Amino acid sequence: MESTLTKLQFSHTCLDLLLSDNFPPTKESATINEMNWLIHDTGILECSAVAEKFHLNGKNAKNVKKAYIISAGIHGNETAPIEILNDIINKLIRAETQLVHPTLFIFGNIEGMKKSVREIEYNLNRLFCGRHQKIAPCYETQRAELFEKVCSEFRDKYLDHDLIHFDLHTAIKESAHEKFAIYPFVEKRELNTEVLDNLESMGIEAILFSNKKATTFSHYTSEFLKACGITVELGKVHPFGQNPRESFVACKQTLIELIADKKPTMKNKKAIAYNVKCEIIKKSEDFKFNFDKNTKNFTRFDKGTHLYTDGEQQWHTDEDGLRIVFPNEKVAIGERTGLLVKEVLVDRN
Ligand SMILES: [Zn+2]
Repeated sequence: MESTLTKLQFSHTCLDLLLSDNFPPTKESATINEMNWLIHDTGILECSAVAEKFHLNGKNAKNVKKAYIISAGIHGNETAPIEILNDIINKLIRAETQLVHPTLFIFGNIEGMKKSVREIEYNLNRLFCGRHQKIAPCYETQRAELFEKVCSEFRDKYLDHDLIHFDLHTAIKESAHEKFAIYPFVEKRELNTEVLDNLESMGIEAILFSNKKATTFSHYTSEFLKACGITVELGKVHPFGQNPRESFVACKQTLIELIADKKPTMKNKKAIAYNVKCEIIKKSEDFKFNFDKNTKNFTRFDKGTHLYTDGEQQWHTDEDGLRIVFPNEKVAIGERTGLLVKEVLVDRN
C-alpha cells in the first residue's frame, strides 16, 4: 500500500487524507527533496532540513538556531488555520518552498474537523499542562496527552534551539481587533520582541498579555517546554472552502518565510498591547451583562458605564479605556465570565 508520505508528495493533501479518514497513526519517515519527514501519528508531521543551513542577512544577523511548532484545528471547526497549515505542508513536500528550521506541524481535533464541530466532548484548549489526566478520558484528552508527548520529545531533540510555537485559531465572536494574539503568562521570562514583530507581519493588530497561568496549548509549550508559545486568533470562523483567503495571506506568507529563515516581507501596522486589568467572576445565578450579546471583543467602555449586574449588585467601570474580552455569561458560579483589559505601552528595545 502507498505510504502516507508518498500520497502527500504526489496525489493528496493532509486535509484530503484527514477528512476522509485515510491518515493512519502509523509512524513513517522519508527524505524528500532534502527534507526529512517524520509522521508521528495522525495529523502530526515533523520536517527538518537534511542540512541545517542558515541565510546570513548582513553582518549583524544573529545566527540563532530556531525550531517551530505550528498547530491548527485545536478547535475542529476553525477551518482557516487548518487550510493554512495544509497549504504550507503541501508546498514543502512538493518542493515549492524550502525549510531551514525544524518544524512540527500539528492538526488538533481531527474528529471535530470531520464533523465540523469545535469539539467532540471537551474543549481541547483547556486540557494541557496535565489537565487531561484530571477529567474522564475522551477523544480530546487522548489528543492533549499525545501532543504533550510529541512536543516534549521535539523539544528534547532541539534543546539548544529557540522554540517558537504558533497555535492558530479563529473565533466565533466578532472582534474590534480582527486578528489578535494571546501571550501566555510565565513568571520572570523575557519578552520575545522578535516574535512580536513576526506577529505584526502576520497581520496581528493586538497582543493581549495574560496575567495568570492557563491550561491552553500555548501556555503548555511556554511554561513546560520553555518555548515562546502564542495563541493566534485570525478572525472569524467559516466552513471549509469558504474562508476569505486574502485575509490569511499575511499569516501564511510570514510562516513560510519564518521556517525558511527569511526575514518576513509583509509589512503591517504596529500592534496595540493590552494587559489584563481584572477578571469578572460570576457570583450568582442572576448574572447579566448590560451590553448586547453581539458586542465585539475589545469593545471600549467609558468610566462609569454600567457593565453588568450580578444578583443584587450593579457594577460600573471605575476608569476610562477598559475593554471587554471573551464575555460569556454561561459559566458556573465562581468561574470567569470575561476579562477587562487596558492598553499598555510595551518597551520593545
Ligand atoms: Zn479556537
